[in-house]
Amino acid sequence: MTSFTTETPRNPGTAAPPALAHHLIGGSWAGEPSVERRNPARLDQIAALSPAGTAADADTAVAAAVRAQPAWASLPAPARGAILIKAASLLEERAEGIATDLVREEGKTLAEASGEVRRATDVLRFFGSLGWAASGEVLPSSLPGTTVTTRREPLGVFALITPWNFPLAIPAWKAAPALVAGNAVVLKPAELTPLSATHLARALHDAGLPAGVFNVVHGKGRVVGEALARDGRVAGLSFTGSTAVGLHLNGILDARRARVQLEMGGKNAVLVLDDAAPQAAAAVVAAGAFGLTGQACTATSRVYVTPGVRGEFVDALVHQAAAYAPGDGLDGARMGAVVSEAQLRQDAAAVRGAVERGARLLTGTDDGEPSRGGLFFLPTVLADVDADDPVVTDEIFGPVVVVLEVPDYEAGLASVNASRYGLTAGICTDSLALATDFAERAQAGVVKVNRPTSGLDLNVPFGGIKDSSTNTFREQGRTAIEFYTWGKTVYLGV
Ligand code: NAD
Repeated sequence: MTSFTTETPRNPGTAAPPALAHHLIGGSWAGEPSVERRNPARLDQIAALSPAGTAADADTAVAAAVRAQPAWASLPAPARGAILIKAASLLEERAEGIATDLVREEGKTLAEASGEVRRATDVLRFFGSLGWAASGEVLPSSLPGTTVTTRREPLGVFALITPWNFPLAIPAWKAAPALVAGNAVVLKPAELTPLSATHLARALHDAGLPAGVFNVVHGKGRVVGEALARDGRVAGLSFTGSTAVGLHLNGILDARRARVQLEMGGKNAVLVLDDAAPQAAAAVVAAGAFGLTGQACTATSRVYVTPGVRGEFVDALVHQAAAYAPGDGLDGARMGAVVSEAQLRQDAAAVRGAVERGARLLTGTDDGEPSRGGLFFLPTVLADVDADDPVVTDEIFGPVVVVLEVPDYEAGLASVNASRYGLTAGICTDSLALATDFAERAQAGVVKVNRPTSGLDLNVPFGGIKDSSTNTFREQGRTAIEFYTWGKTVYLGV
């Protein structure tokens, strides 16, 4: 077996040599790390080198998974869970190094990266412990001397295709339920963040996961991802990423009647009502809009506010935005870097376009040039925009929020729902009646009252509706197991 090394001297003159990512295929580390990933906060530093996977690598990984899966499924579920729990402990022991790698490859803050490592650890423990949980029911039968039970069976081999914004947590929350249920997995992580997935693979490998049960193949989505989606041996695909790519993959999986779960884009809104405390509402919106540099599918990007609170709320939001000064996540910045130059240009173009169409830039920027040696974008607040302006309707995926006035609650609710997306929605109010009504009528998979739209516990179902999701199976919590298993009903006569 090839040994796994994390460092190489190929980044001379800096304190941060690039880390190496490898494929993990059939229990062996493979591939020549040749694709450079620059640290978005320090463009002069190479954060990672990873292999450019091919369709042949994907094929080999699927073959390894197919070979390994039956023996894995025949292990008692608590024994499968114990390996996940051991992997959690290894992630915990290695947390500092993993969080540092995560900051260097993705650009988020150290606090956010450390939180993500803790989340991945907790996810592995949560699903590992489900190895001990009952997975079926005992039901009465109309026939004498007969018992009916239900079982959940693994499907076989799953492909997981994941984005760069939570490069450790998302692979963990997809892989853990798949594995504890007895499936084998091939993960295709985002090209921009190969290290985090490699750390997850290393923890599972070192925890004693049998060879071939968990495989990672790095590389381009349209090469490796596409090959996995089209492979008839892959029973299902769990994808998180953009709506355009997700819908493309949906067509491929649907055509061969394979199981598919898509979690995609968002344009999440918060409705701020007159009875909300302006400072508290601004803190809710700022955390949702500027936390994680706005690069969360659950980030707040639209705010609808009623006239009585509008002035005070906007002043408070602009004031609080100033606290999210962007910088290197390893230097204690409150907001990290933008992930790539393409994303930085996209953030700036979205703001510039809105301003050209008449929007008011209350704070922030439309400058898409790298500055201070990194990809930094100021927290940005826009106002006075038409309801159908692209800055209101299209996902930006940056620290940009647009504030629109609405006359009352009903108009605000209608505006929140007037979106092709439906991932999260929030309301800031002291009215229990309106909060309850909003929870019922908001068209979103997750509703938050007086809390930021981003951030969910690991034990609760997560997913969207409309173009945010396939809206079939939910991720996270116990319910996540359903996607990775099929139901069987057994009649037992004695
Ligand atoms: P992306 O769609 O560009 O890429 C996601 C993954 O798909 C990557 O691994 C990529 O390599 C792969 N891919 C790209 N083209 C492919 C193809 N033709 N076939 C197979 N795989 C392909 O998304 P991104 O830029 O990495 O992430 C940002 C997007 O992810 C945003 O739209 C965001 O809203 C979404 N997101 C959604 C959630 C959620 O839970 N709903 C969570 C995080 C991110």
